[in-house]
Amino acid sequence: MKNYINGQWVASLGTQTVEVINPATEEVLAHSPLGTPEDVNKAVLAAKEAFLTWRKVPAVDRVQHLFKLKALLEENFEELVKLCTQEHGKTLVESRGDVRRGIQMVETACGIPTLMMGQSFEDIAAGIDCQSIRQPMGVFAAITPFNFPAMVPFWFWPFAVASGNTFVLKPSERVPLSQLKIFELIEKAGFPKGVMNLVLGGKDVVNAICSHPDVKGVSFVGSTPVAKHVYQTASSHGKRVQALGGAKNFMVVLPDAVMDSTVRTCLESIVGCAGQRCLAGSVILSVGNAFDEVKERIVRAASDMVVGDGSNPATQMGPLISKAAVERVKGLIQSAVDEGAQLLLDGRKTHSKGFYLHPTVISGVKPHMRIAKEEVFGPVVCLAQVKSLDEALQWINSSQYANTASLFTSSGAAARQFSYEAAPAMLGLNIGVPAPMAFFSFGGAKESFFGDVKAHGSASMYFFTDSKVTISRWNKNSNIW
Ligand code: NAD
Repeated sequence: MKNYINGQWVASLGTQTVEVINPATEEVLAHSPLGTPEDVNKAVLAAKEAFLTWRKVPAVDRVQHLFKLKALLEENFEELVKLCTQEHGKTLVESRGDVRRGIQMVETACGIPTLMMGQSFEDIAAGIDCQSIRQPMGVFAAITPFNFPAMVPFWFWPFAVASGNTFVLKPSERVPLSQLKIFELIEKAGFPKGVMNLVLGGKDVVNAICSHPDVKGVSFVGSTPVAKHVYQTASSHGKRVQALGGAKNFMVVLPDAVMDSTVRTCLESIVGCAGQRCLAGSVILSVGNAFDEVKERIVRAASDMVVGDGSNPATQMGPLISKAAVERVKGLIQSAVDEGAQLLLDGRKTHSKGFYLHPTVISGVKPHMRIAKEEVFGPVVCLAQVKSLDEALQWINSSQYANTASLFTSSGAAARQFSYEAAPAMLGLNIGVPAPMAFFSFGGAKESFFGDVKAHGSASMYFFTDSKVTISRWNKNSNIW
């Protein structure tokens, strides 16, 4: 496994590696090198050099490489899906979503001439005009997590590169295979050397990116402690930073919700991708008499789920990423029981191979319990009964996280109150995973997001470009040289 720097596949300078493991079978798929600060330096210098010419390529020509890449991604779609399932464990259907959402970022970034357009206004004073343009800034970098091996890097680089910047990507060392394949396709799409660079590694690579003097901005997605660290380190080195962190997502069910579809949607949100989504629902807050019906239906639906190897088309839920992740989630389940919650469905079953945890349902969850406060990142349904929407909102808004929240109801008035008062920055109304599409912007609030400009869509232009204003006066009589 090599880095891709300056249009060449080059060996990492790191001497240590991390095993890339298929979580369904425990088979070692590859050894991912842990790169060094010098690998980062080489990639950044190549990107810095490439920027000098890439920024002068007209945007309509720059995006031709993205159009080519889009075609290549479609041609290789099923191979990417297979790789994603192999290294992450999610089902084939979920991997198709992972790759598809990534391709949609490329498609949206192809519209960069429109996205990047500036503003102008004549006669801001008599005979004086003003125009504001957006210019690329140089080298940007992204550091991404394990849970969407294909999609998350696409949240950033197509927008950065289409707008004239150059790029260094550091994917998660636990799932580098999808990105290695995508970089083969990036190479085929014919981007000039140095425009796109890949450095494999872990925290040494991250820290070198965050402190490198020639990196203008850093996009990060991962857990909250690392998001905070990246935000603090990179911003203290004068960089723009957008750091997307962890989450604790609540789902409120009112008695007037359409119960059948509500329960199915809530369950899919919580156990989809084995709960390893930053938008995964976690605690279902049922108001009044909605509680009993939600409880009865969700236990039945969760116990019916087919758990197994994601590459088997019959599988409905795959494994977690690692043995350590299974142990961590089991520990959180036990903590809820120890704190007085009731275990209605215990998913702690063993398989002879693979990092499995079956859907688990816990009732009687209270705000002070660890399981109600911490990100679970596993297929655990937490049930709580509240008296009113006001009480549910109080619970949601007291969380340290504010990524997403959902409300299930037929009442427009309740929906409006929820949209108005809930702190999370991505809300679902009768939707369980409110993930903004490529042409909208993505990002939470509080400890789920550090920075001020969110990912993809039109917001990304504020992150990847700087504005320049020119004010002009042309006197008719001055052209006399
Ligand atoms: P992680 O924080 O462990 O790793 C993310 C990246 O940071 C990886 O590339 C990793 O190499 C690097 N890293 C890890 N530890 C580091 C350290 N000590 N110093 C410097 N760099 C370090 O996250 P993960 O386990 O890969 O992903 C799961 C987390 O990501 C969850 O908390 C999930 O909610 C979050 N996530 C958030 C969003 C969002 O949009 N807010 C999206 C996807 C995932």
